Amino acid sequence: MPKFTPKSFLLAWCAAAPLLLTACSGDRAPTAATPTATVAALPDTEWTTYGLDAAETRYSPLAQITASNVGDLGLAWSFDTGEVRGHEATPLIVDGVMYATRPWSSVFALDARSGKLLWNYDPQVDKSMGWKACCDVVNRGVAYYDNKVFVGALDGRLIALDAKTGQVVWETLTVDQGEPYTITGAPRIADGKVLIGNGGAELGTRGYLSAYDAQTGAQAWRFWVVPGNPAQGFENPDVERAAATWFGKWWEVGGGGTPWDSIVYDPDLRLVYVGTGNGSPWSHELRSEGKGDNLYLSSIVALKVDDGRLAWYYQVNPADNWDYTVVQPLMLANLSINGVLRKVIMQAPKNGFFYVLDRETGRLLSADPYSKVTWASGIDLESGRPIETPQARYGAAVAMVTPGPGGAHSWHPMSFNPNTGLVYLPTTQGSSFAYSVEQNFVYKPGTWNTGVTFGTLQGLPRLNAEQYRPGAGPERDAPGALVAWDPIARQPRWVVDYPFAINGGTLSTAGNLVFQGGADGILRAFTADSGDLVWMADLGVGIMAPPVTYALDGTQYLAVLVGWGGASGLIGKSAAGTFKGEGRLWTFKLGGDKNIVPVEGQPMHELSEISFDDNPELLARGADIYGKRCMVCHGANAVSGGSLADLRYALPATYDILDNIVRQGAYSGLGMPNLGKWVSEDDLKALKNWLLSRRAAEMAAVQQAAQRQ
Ligand code: CA
Repeated sequence: MPKFTPKSFLLAWCAAAPLLLTACSGDRAPTAATPTATVAALPDTEWTTYGLDAAETRYSPLAQITASNVGDLGLAWSFDTGEVRGHEATPLIVDGVMYATRPWSSVFALDARSGKLLWNYDPQVDKSMGWKACCDVVNRGVAYYDNKVFVGALDGRLIALDAKTGQVVWETLTVDQGEPYTITGAPRIADGKVLIGNGGAELGTRGYLSAYDAQTGAQAWRFWVVPGNPAQGFENPDVERAAATWFGKWWEVGGGGTPWDSIVYDPDLRLVYVGTGNGSPWSHELRSEGKGDNLYLSSIVALKVDDGRLAWYYQVNPADNWDYTVVQPLMLANLSINGVLRKVIMQAPKNGFFYVLDRETGRLLSADPYSKVTWASGIDLESGRPIETPQARYGAAVAMVTPGPGGAHSWHPMSFNPNTGLVYLPTTQGSSFAYSVEQNFVYKPGTWNTGVTFGTLQGLPRLNAEQYRPGAGPERDAPGALVAWDPIARQPRWVVDYPFAINGGTLSTAGNLVFQGGADGILRAFTADSGDLVWMADLGVGIMAPPVTYALDGTQYLAVLVGWGGASGLIGKSAAGTFKGEGRLWTFKLGGDKNIVPVEGQPMHELSEISFDDNPELLARGADIYGKRCMVCHGANAVSGGSLADLRYALPATYDILDNIVRQGAYSGLGMPNLGKWVSEDDLKALKNWLLSRRAAEMAAVQQAAQRQ
């Protein structure tokens, strides 16, 4: 078993006592003035691509800010984005200008020294299509190339902007807007081409990656992750080969595989590496009659940059059955393994194992659990295939499987520090999901089509305890952890536990530091070699995006975009206290302003009593409709994750117009879809009644808590 060095005690204590923040950072971080001599010698160092360098290591050689002086960090400047919801972007810094994106894909350019707004570009995404985004209307940033800034808009457009002015140079539609495709990922540049994927596998789409000429916007090539209808012919032999691993009529339900995040280019090998998404529907039984590996779902694929044709593939999860995407960040490194220097690619996909592959051949070198997993007991290094446990292939009976669809790690970037040899990985520990195949599944356009039962599991058969087999990986008490993974020793060197399941991406630096934001709105710095907490700042709103660092005019800056949302901000409350609020870009430097005023959270409405009918049948019907039509955005049991309205706290007037909102599209401009096709008038009455019962339960809980005080 790997040896852990938990730092949870200190962290929990500090996190629980925000007023003692100074004491926390002060205890651990003696402040030291920055020597002026080294300041003058610091060359300008910017952040020009998504993952900092071509290998996407997010390791900065900057060392003006160190583990011993980090306590002297203070505010350099901040910029309010004017948007709520999830802020996931990595800002780029090029020629003294910072480029970043907000929710709904708008782009802003700031003077990276002062934070002054230089230009703003809003692609005017039609907000009535926000429902297509499974996991919030987020955007993870832009690409920069040859005086142009490229952004993928939520509605599927790829747009090139003049970096100086923000004016559109060209734009092209990368998807059929009649289908539920979205773009949330940052484009990447490879050999003069702009690469962009798409999302939408939950709703029933066929995923692909496209390459466009960066100067003209002309399409160069397209890689189809999964085959379409064979009767219409195959686009190329790669697709034809994949089709031999599919059964049934998968094309009628999309197939999935949407590559919505990771793309890395190795200019030496001239290969583009892409992580592909989960199957659509999730259930392998419903998608492919329970037969075949379903290439190239849940895979790392290596594509030739000239024509997009396959060089090799490694399928992480053959016959995906759990929404186990492999779109998580890919990172390149050269590692000495058993005395041989290898060009490797590293990834920690949703399924809980950390993979190291030879990136020249696609051969698996190692795969080890970085969190508890129960779907597999290990990965066979000879065949490269997982050793699945019996419960992994669930049927009509409910089976608990770890990790669940949220995964043990999602898009949140990891970083790799060559000085320590460690990968700093944001993880979710021990999340599970009750999977069962939805009986009488029918594809419904415009809704989630996972083929898995959500919400009401009452009355379904369950696997009993004897039918479960243990999986692999460490069991941790904390719901989230920062894992410092040694990819050569194949185990963690240190772990920091978090009281929240989902936390931000990481940055590591030559100053022996790792920076990470938390769901609790606190930005933290740890020593890279040992995981000691050395600095923290309360920014008030949950942090998802990874910090970046850059140097201009002899000053090293640390910047992070803050704003809570994403899947976790929609579906589950994973942080205590206030974390919803307007987005802000924070930038720090040594000797900056120590008076850091957190963003003020948004107060909830007052609760007032509205009567409801406690008829059990009516309540059950309301709960069922909520589970099928509302839960994935408004949260399990109507408890909001913080990004969208907590329906229990709605104003009484809002309940009066619920029919207009749900069945007639009154709020479609805010991203609330018109569900008129799927929710009848009687359904709405049951739904409203159930929501009011949840409101009453919340009122009772609030009153009880008040009496105890
Ligand atoms: Ca998915």
